[in-house]
Amino acid sequence: MFLFKQRKFFLTTIVAGIILSFTTASSSNADYSKFPKFHRFPNQPLSRGRVQNIILFIGDGMGDSEITIARNYSVGAAGRLFIDTLPFTGEYTTYSIQEQNPKLPDYVTDSAASGTGWATGNKTSNGRISTTVGTDKDLKTILELAKQRGYKTGDVSTAELTDATPAVLLSHVSDRSCQGPQDMANCPQDKKSAGGPGSIAEQSIDHDVDVLLGGGKQRYDQIIDGGNYVGKTVIDAAKARGYQVVTNAAQLQMAQPASKLLGLFSPGNMSLEWAGQAAIPYPGSGPQRCIENQRPTNEPSLADMTNKAISLLKQKAGRGGFFLQVEGASIDKRDHAGNPCEQIGETVALDRAVKVALEYAKNHPDTLIVVTADHGHTSQIIPPPTASNHSPGKFSTLITADEAEMTVNYATNLPAQSQEHTGTQVRIAAQGPQGENVVGVLDQTDLFHILARAIGAE
Ligand code: MG
Ligand code: ZN
Repeated sequence: MFLFKQRKFFLTTIVAGIILSFTTASSSNADYSKFPKFHRFPNQPLSRGRVQNIILFIGDGMGDSEITIARNYSVGAAGRLFIDTLPFTGEYTTYSIQEQNPKLPDYVTDSAASGTGWATGNKTSNGRISTTVGTDKDLKTILELAKQRGYKTGDVSTAELTDATPAVLLSHVSDRSCQGPQDMANCPQDKKSAGGPGSIAEQSIDHDVDVLLGGGKQRYDQIIDGGNYVGKTVIDAAKARGYQVVTNAAQLQMAQPASKLLGLFSPGNMSLEWAGQAAIPYPGSGPQRCIENQRPTNEPSLADMTNKAISLLKQKAGRGGFFLQVEGASIDKRDHAGNPCEQIGETVALDRAVKVALEYAKNHPDTLIVVTADHGHTSQIIPPPTASNHSPGKFSTLITADEAEMTVNYATNLPAQSQEHTGTQVRIAAQGPQGENVVGVLDQTDLFHILARAIGAE
């Protein structure tokens, strides 16, 4: 049986290779000719099995170190998180390119450039949202492609919905700060009053994404300065475009699949799941146990939002199925702040959201689930500090599920400053049809092509 399966697999691969050689030339979204040194065509696909639905999880700043810290703390060193159970695992490089000299890499990406990488298959410079380096042209996103092909679409985040990660799927602006119609100082050409596509909030509505859930209500309360909805708030424009708008967990539960859904559960980023003492310079904070269950109950958890998004998208789904992105945003934000308990709580929250998708896939095995990060981050597990041997940065010691002490270090910037992203490669994991395509060492831009293949666009 095993041999037979293996032979069938090889035959499938050969046939897939032949099909691919006829289809790649005309369908690529990326402009590979411009920066040949830093781009390559994606790997030959290992699998082309039929994909009905795609659920993509992005742990912002969730490098291998952040995953290991959350695992050690919450289930112990020998335990496994749900995200550890996905059968196919690869790594991908995350560098961006320089705005002034795009032939050169920028080794440490931000979430905007990295998101443009995985969402469009193109490298760009830090700060750009799905626009080309230098020339500021729109780059087609995987969500736009999925929508064109009849998929229902959803975009979910614990950050503001207009933050870089959710934004790269449904908007095109030259700078990530251009989140609401009154936040356009860095993107004057994109303003609606200047004939542009408007802010990220406006574009999210104009894209008619079926399910939008997250924070950032402050952006949607702003007044639109041009176009069809001039003088209205973005929320009013959303209603005019047929969205039901909900602002708390109870309303989210009640939301019906009859119309598109915009859920805005906080003025800014959504509340954190856990609390604890921040890291400090030697001797560090702790030993401590994290304080769990800190999120106010009027805000839904990431798992709740994922569950509701799936249930709405599947009820609306036609033959094409759905594409859903779910971001655990504040792993990154609490890593910047050097707070291990808050960071771990957000990582565990993403893990619980992944569990929801894994449960769904049990009865819908034609669902491709991908879990990855957009870039590495600061936190490191280091040996116990002593007076003569300790990090010059800040750290905290936690008592883990093993009942052992684990010291987490933050030292990519001065202790009082925001800690920095890092340039390391990060994990990409998958399960379901075409999940095998994530194995090996990839680049972030390859994820776009893997997803584009999965929806039949490449
Ligand atoms: Mg993000
Ligand atoms: Zn960050």
